[in-house]
Amino acid sequence: MKKTSIEIICTHCGEDALLRREPVYEGLRKTGEELSCSACGFIFASEAEVPFKKKPVTPPIFTDADRSVTVPIFKKNENACLCRYCANYVVNPFVQFCARHKKEVQAADSCPQFSSDEKRSTDFFKDNPPG
Ligand SMILES: [Zn+2]
Repeated sequence: MKKTSIEIICTHCGEDALLRREPVYEGLRKTGEELSCSACGFIFASEAEVPFKKKPVTPPIFTDADRSVTVPIFKKNENACLCRYCANYVVNPFVQFCARHKKEVQAADSCPQFSSDEKRSTDFFKDNPPG
């Protein structure tokens, strides 16, 4: 007989109980086992019916220390290469445009031919102040 007691949560009485396992004999021949609840005696039809208690929940693998620190998306100077900050970036209400490449761009695009905003020749807002 196994020494380990098998814990169940009985589907019949709802108790945190133990599984009682008793041999069933037909005459002198053992025909099977009767699986029952130690609390209420409810007999489970088969092993598959036994509401075995789940093993204790494994402790969380991750602790707070493992939580990723909020990673800044941009390094300090990374913004500087965005079209938004480029002298060749021209914006009007309808299009964002790169004066150097003669094509439509997005403010968040980056460009190897970036040139500093300070030398911006065309400033939409200078000629058309917002508001
Ligand atoms: Zn029970």
